[in-house]
Amino acid sequence: MIIDGQRVEAANGRTLETINPTNGEALASVPRAGAEDVNRAVVAARRAIDGTWGAATPSDRQQVISRLAELVAHHADELIALDVLDGGGTITRVGRRTKEAAALLRWYAAQARTIRGQTIENSRPQPLVSYTIKEPVGVVGAITPWNAPLTMAIWKLGPVLATGCTLVHKPAEQSPLSAIRLAELCLEAGVPPGVVNVVTGDGEAGAALAGHLDVDKVSFTGSVETGQAIIRASASNVKRLTMELGGKSPNIIFADADLDAAVPAAANAVFGGSGQVCAAATRVLVQRPIYEEVVRSITRLGCEMTLGDPFDPGTDLGPLISGEQLERVLDYIESGVKEGAQLRSGGAWAADVNGGRGHFVAPTVFAGAQPQMRVFAEEIFGPVLVAVPFDSFEEAIALANATRYGLAAGVWTTDIGTAHRAVAALRSGTVWVNTYSQLDPAVPMGGYRMSGYGREMGDEQIEEYLTIKSVWMPGA
Ligand code: ADP
Repeated sequence: MIIDGQRVEAANGRTLETINPTNGEALASVPRAGAEDVNRAVVAARRAIDGTWGAATPSDRQQVISRLAELVAHHADELIALDVLDGGGTITRVGRRTKEAAALLRWYAAQARTIRGQTIENSRPQPLVSYTIKEPVGVVGAITPWNAPLTMAIWKLGPVLATGCTLVHKPAEQSPLSAIRLAELCLEAGVPPGVVNVVTGDGEAGAALAGHLDVDKVSFTGSVETGQAIIRASASNVKRLTMELGGKSPNIIFADADLDAAVPAAANAVFGGSGQVCAAATRVLVQRPIYEEVVRSITRLGCEMTLGDPFDPGTDLGPLISGEQLERVLDYIESGVKEGAQLRSGGAWAADVNGGRGHFVAPTVFAGAQPQMRVFAEEIFGPVLVAVPFDSFEEAIALANATRYGLAAGVWTTDIGTAHRAVAALRSGTVWVNTYSQLDPAVPMGGYRMSGYGREMGDEQIEEYLTIKSVWMPGA
């Protein structure tokens, strides 16, 4: 792992193995950090704020992020290989995301030049000038999951570098490799030692970071339960928080929708990445006249998807991240069958794929799910779709909102009035109309309700890494 610009081991020498999910074999051994290592990284990050980094101008920060963007583009093949080996995403998907990662960094580079306070006219009786200054929030702890390792790392690193904060990143124990490489590229780009630190380890290291008294903010992406533990730990020193906690996103297909567009998009929106995507559209709500046709077409598209080696460009779906995740997904599928949903396809470990090695599950479709079923209510993080028919607009919205989550929603209709009404009625941080899964660095992404708070990307994210100082002084 990388602390204060150095490659280091854990203080007590502990390690953990990261597994290649495609074949179940050990891929690499990384340090398993504990509280002592986290503290060492936080001390380095604090020192870095007080050093040259604290004096870096917006132009300096812009240049360093731009150099990092070029290095990420230059080393794209290596970064792609690390994430495919470590996370099991397909080369097509990881390749696209890694290309976008360089563009994402170029956007953060531009953001470094946009930070500004305000001069505010006040009404005090004596002449006084009042204005605000935006300052970096300080040492940021980032805790990320395994499903898009490099992108997650950059969503945390970008705003840190743009605003002049420093970072201690704890990547997921299942896929820490690209974060380590990214921290090395930061050093090569001229980011001073101590500004970007990576501690590898499991929840123990994450908890130490969340509870550390000298960490000013934590930015977390992961499950609700872990998010709640982090919120509790953050009370120790009243940390600022960004929480991105997953979802159970609905995709509503009205009878007037363009099905040639809606059906493939709905299949990709839930099966892509083997469903291990926080904004996956796992609940497909279909207006009754087209319900059977849509469910059949999505099921057929799912059945046509190729499972296999994620390095093969012909592969549509790679493995689930781990045996534990496979069991979790199969347990959900079993609960769906028991609770009376109709299993239309998939539903089992795909034992014939890759010679029986790896944790593959074929696209799974449940029809006739009900809101009280676990498969309808809970985030599965696997290629599992539930389809539900609806009659009226109101019923569609009620079903869509019948969840504790609120990360994203899709709406398919050719009636602009229906689209506007749905956008207004959906309790969701993002609504995609006649499209799905669109992301851009300038557009914020985040949750309503238990999908979390705070935003990734957009101007709003930059603000979350800044704090405001109000200044008063005698005027003329
Ligand atoms: P998932 O693997 O389902 O995304 P988590 O939300 O548990 O599950 O994991 C996301 C990240 O949170 C990982 O980096 C993990 O190591 C970390 N983590 C797990 N438990 C804790 C904890 N108690 N405090 C802080 N971080 C944790």
